[in-house]
Amino acid sequence: MTSLLGAQERAVLDAVPRQLYIGGRWRDGEQGTMAVEDPATGEDLCEVANASPADAMAALDAAVAAQPTWAQHAPRERGEILRRAFEAIMDRSDELALLMTLEMGKPLAEARAEVLYGAEFLRWFAEEAVRIDGRFAAAPTGRGRLLTMKQPVGPCLLITPWNFPLAMGTRKVGPAVAAGCTMVVKPAQQTPLSMLAFVRIMEEAGLPGGVLNVVMSSQAGATMGPLIADSRLRKLSFTGSTEVGRRLMEQGSANLLRLSMELGGNAPFLVFEDADLEDAVGGALLAKMRNMGEACTAANRFYVQASVADEFATLLAERMGAMRVGRGSDAATEVGPMIDAAQQAKVAALVDDAVGRGARALVGGRVPEGAGYFYGPTVLSNVPADAELLREEIFGPVAPVLSFADEDAAIAAANSTNYGLVAYVYTRDLERAFRVTERLETGMVGLNQGIVSNAAAPFGGVKHSGFGREGGREGIDEYLETKYVAMRL
Ligand code: NAP
Repeated sequence: MTSLLGAQERAVLDAVPRQLYIGGRWRDGEQGTMAVEDPATGEDLCEVANASPADAMAALDAAVAAQPTWAQHAPRERGEILRRAFEAIMDRSDELALLMTLEMGKPLAEARAEVLYGAEFLRWFAEEAVRIDGRFAAAPTGRGRLLTMKQPVGPCLLITPWNFPLAMGTRKVGPAVAAGCTMVVKPAQQTPLSMLAFVRIMEEAGLPGGVLNVVMSSQAGATMGPLIADSRLRKLSFTGSTEVGRRLMEQGSANLLRLSMELGGNAPFLVFEDADLEDAVGGALLAKMRNMGEACTAANRFYVQASVADEFATLLAERMGAMRVGRGSDAATEVGPMIDAAQQAKVAALVDDAVGRGARALVGGRVPEGAGYFYGPTVLSNVPADAELLREEIFGPVAPVLSFADEDAAIAAANSTNYGLVAYVYTRDLERAFRVTERLETGMVGLNQGIVSNAAAPFGGVKHSGFGREGGREGIDEYLETKYVAMRL
């Protein structure tokens, strides 16, 4: 097959290390190599090292060995390494964005936005590194003093998904480095390149060997299982599906691992009749189409008050139907491919199921012809309550629109899921905004806003969307233990 890659794309790929990074050295994997695919063409982009369980254990050995010295590093120095990495990412943002587009498929503009978002976690936690503190208080009896101090939890395993290949990594690595933890990072099989480029940047920013180790594997369970069972590992931070999260939690329980779980979502998007409809459609496009719908925060179910539901669905279908589908690296593209054939097939099956049960496709509803894993932007109306896509995370550019009669019905529908990551609410009534926000069973709410991600805010879910928070002031606490000292006086 003739390669569709241009000279610039080839150069960006060639600049990325392809090996495992263990104890400050780049090295081959014992399992040979594995291919990274371009989802826009189905063509192989390159090969990267494939780790064995022994490679993964060597990475943990390196993290364990580096932990005591790293914990003694001055917080200011840890922060400065992160700050230098932030600057380097900003300097190389165009190359990093192109690299991300090649391995993940998202349009270049979105890849650039993720590079900035991902870098922001490094800047934020560079600033938080010097704000780790404790408390000093008199005991209630007055006869003693209570002192608390924060210390790094120790070696961590950080597992990341493919949908935000850089930001899901920096959101964990940033606070872990700031807190004084060492780590083993395992990026997703489909998208290791952005992480490898980032690790090279951390190396160049002066991070000592052994603090950050990276292993990729074509057999995640078999390769990472022994680490999760190893009592030298102190924490697992996972971003991915609820199904895998549950399995890792079971495995981690034998080792009493500290856990952070950023799992799947099924976000409701509520539009009340007093909302500014144009604004709500703009927010819906962001909440639905960012990352082609392959985001844990993607609006999965649109509930619109009956009096404006048809108008909303028509406007949304017009806007989604006009979006340009294509290779992410083409400047005009607004919607890239799904990550792989399995995801494309899953989205198609969910739409077919809904249409088979009586839903109507106002736009889209089919797999476009040609190579690559594309799915056309789709708006469905008349969606019956038993359609699978109301229960499952669609993870694709598909918007099911349903109507509701009143506030209670809207909240009941929104909460009728085991997931609880984020909800979106559009209303101009301030009291309603607060009433509804308080009753929604989610970790985050977008109020007249279709995007919530922000490095300065605590990101995370409730119910089966997981626990723990990333980003904000809370993010670093996930990597710190509190030690209490009782002082006699
Ligand atoms: P996934 O299949 O759960 O995989 C996530 C990561 O876990 C990958 O690195 C994967 O490696 C690894 N993994 C899978 N099985 C494993 C095992 N037995 N032991 C150790 N590691 C294992 O999820 P995904 O398809 O990559 O990502 C999509 C999911 O992530 C969606 O559900 C989405 O909602 C969720 N997500 C959540 C958030 C959040 O913050 N809440 C953010 C982004 C995404 P391989 O790639 O090698 O299989």
